Amino acid sequence: MERSTIVRVHDGLHARPATRFVRLAKGFESEVEIAKGGKSVSAKSSVKLMLLGVKENDEVTIRAEGADAIEAVEALIAYLEDPKSGLEEEGAAPAAPAKAEDAPPAAPQQPEKIAAPLVDAEGAMRGVAASAGVGLGPVFAHFPPQIVPQNRTVAKEEIGAEKARFEDAVKRLQAKLDRSLASDEMQASDRGIVAALRDIAADDTLHEETVKDIDAGLDAVSAIIAASSKLADEFRNLDDAYMSARAEDLEAVARQICLTLLGHEEAKLDDIADGAILVAEDIGAWDLARAPLKRLGGVVCGHGGATSHVAIIARTHGIPAVLGLGEAVHELREASEAAIDGNAGVVYVDPDAKTRERFAEMIGAADREREALKAYRDVVPRRADGTVIHVAANLGSLDEIEAAQEAGAMGVGLFRTELLFMRHMHLPSEDMQAETYATLAKAFPDHPVIVRTLDIGGDKPISGVEFPEEENPFLGWRGIRMCLDRPDIFKVQLRALLRAAVHGNLRVMLPMVSDIEEVRRTRALIDECAAELKSEGAEHGRFQLGIMIETPAAVFGAAALAKEVAFFSVGTNDLTQYVMAADRLNPAVANLNDAAHPAVMAAVEQAARAAVEAGIEIGMCGEAAARSDLIPEFVRMGLTELSMSPVSVQATKKQLMELFDKKG
Ligand code: PEP
Ligand code: MG
Repeated sequence: MERSTIVRVHDGLHARPATRFVRLAKGFESEVEIAKGGKSVSAKSSVKLMLLGVKENDEVTIRAEGADAIEAVEALIAYLEDPKSGLEEEGAAPAAPAKAEDAPPAAPQQPEKIAAPLVDAEGAMRGVAASAGVGLGPVFAHFPPQIVPQNRTVAKEEIGAEKARFEDAVKRLQAKLDRSLASDEMQASDRGIVAALRDIAADDTLHEETVKDIDAGLDAVSAIIAASSKLADEFRNLDDAYMSARAEDLEAVARQICLTLLGHEEAKLDDIADGAILVAEDIGAWDLARAPLKRLGGVVCGHGGATSHVAIIARTHGIPAVLGLGEAVHELREASEAAIDGNAGVVYVDPDAKTRERFAEMIGAADREREALKAYRDVVPRRADGTVIHVAANLGSLDEIEAAQEAGAMGVGLFRTELLFMRHMHLPSEDMQAETYATLAKAFPDHPVIVRTLDIGGDKPISGVEFPEEENPFLGWRGIRMCLDRPDIFKVQLRALLRAAVHGNLRVMLPMVSDIEEVRRTRALIDECAAELKSEGAEHGRFQLGIMIETPAAVFGAAALAKEVAFFSVGTNDLTQYVMAADRLNPAVANLNDAAHPAVMAAVEQAARAAVEAGIEIGMCGEAAARSDLIPEFVRMGLTELSMSPVSVQATKKQLMELFDKKG
């Protein structure tokens, strides 16, 4: 049984998507292979799979042989075509994000590799700027001793026992990783990384290569070091920064297996002082994930680059990091203090008084800014005429509620329901949806909560819906167009929303509207759902219905649309791509994709004028809503709600208060 397909996994089968793919494959009894360009490897080995280098849009073939071959091929093809439809397994991180705002915090712009880093006259060393921010603190040097292979020959009769020792060490390491994954102390974001490392520890290829060497009479420690170095070299030979980082993961896992075999413990990071700069040749991602991250003032490593797991963890926790210093990192071994600039990729060894002063000032300014912004958490920005400007949050799941509340978000301006649908193998039930929307409404009892109906299309298919092949998915069967064609899906969501409406100030918004009939047909469906719920005796309420302004048709038709709905919300992410005819995902036209372009601003203004004239509310939930250079314009146009990622809420409130203060 075999089938070919085009890979739709964003960024290809690297790391976590590879882990998910392998885990899916391992769930089947059949032998499963994946082939690309005449080369095929076992689909059950993450290492082999990563070495195959499967990229997004590559054509691959899945072959399976065995009792469940058909199911295996179908499941793996479905994953490759739609990674979001895969298993939602414990400990695994989500598949690669579909949208930029869901991605892990971005690394500062910096070349990945640098020529031999040296300490310059000022005591500065240059490495990879892997996580932004500045730090100044005592050095915590973490240089556990290297494990040197003894290359001991094992007697023939002891080979069996040596293999058993190796197997046992792998099992013990996996159990240790499982325990750290299960502990409450590890954050969800770090858990995915540790789960990926656990999978490397269980990898068939690493296992087979090691056992081959033990069978040839080599001791287990030397065999695992030999096998991991050989595979790590294969990764490095691919000459790709990401693959080099994976080579380091492999070596880190091998080191842990060796330590387990030798009965040694890795040096602990528990004693690290508050604000200390952790300096290491290399550090295992799970060691870092379990370290007292709140106390860390910075991370400096000889190994690693911007895509290392260490870099991802540092960025997630807002810890400045400079990696890839090479041998120069040893200059810090005996140092007592270090200053780190994660934006520029520079580290100062025992900085002089002038440098210390400069860093202390930069740190102070950043802290003061963060602290000062907290004062804006509960303010309510009002225009001179008393109209409140709602600074609300864009959310993608219930997990983000707390961050929005803590930031002081005035409700939710956009709840993207796509994730609910993409996270599961099956369409989410009405009960499950009703509970989710009700939880959201209850979390913001004093503010509106706007739920957007399913906005999904040919470029982002979901399980349970057959999508046509489309030349231009962004101009195709997506958003409200698909929903109206599939009342079996749409009515479930509308019924769930009507049921949840009794729990708060719930509003509903339709995406991708381009024709007034789309609104009228939706209203008819809502009435039908309400009548059904009534006859079933099910508790339900009513909600205000609004639309997103994302298409030029909605802008030009805004005056007529404003008579049909209760509010508009401008989706500048899509509106910009449609006004500028510049694909929002295509970096080649990124310069055109700017919401500040006069053509886009004119479109927003036209929609705003129509809303104001009709007396309905207009807000914005596209990324431009948090742009400080555009906010005064949006307010002038008459927008009364700006919805954004929770991290931007306090700064936006501050800007609005200052803006109104100046005017008032
Ligand atoms: C937009 O298009 O501006 C928007 C908020 O929707 P999304 O980014 O989910 O397409
Ligand atoms: Mg959109």
